[in-house]
Amino acid sequence: MVRGAYKSRSKVRKRIRTPGGRLVVHYKNKNKQIRRCAKCKKIIKQRVSRPMQELCPKCLKEQIKLSVR
Ligand SMILES: [Zn+2]
Repeated sequence: MVRGAYKSRSKVRKRIRTPGGRLVVHYKNKNKQIRRCAKCKKIIKQRVSRPMQELCPKCLKEQIKLSVR
């Protein structure tokens, strides 16, 4: 049985044949999707709960200014 941390759904099981012919399971992390700003394509680090989540704070500021004018 594997350790609890490896049972996570964010892991991928891969069967790998060793040089000795043994089949072993390797646990790997799934590739995480990197969140990027929809406008300037910069990486968004913080997860926020607000309208226009796909924009970075800088672009959001600009967007609000544009919508007010
Ligand atoms: Zn941006």
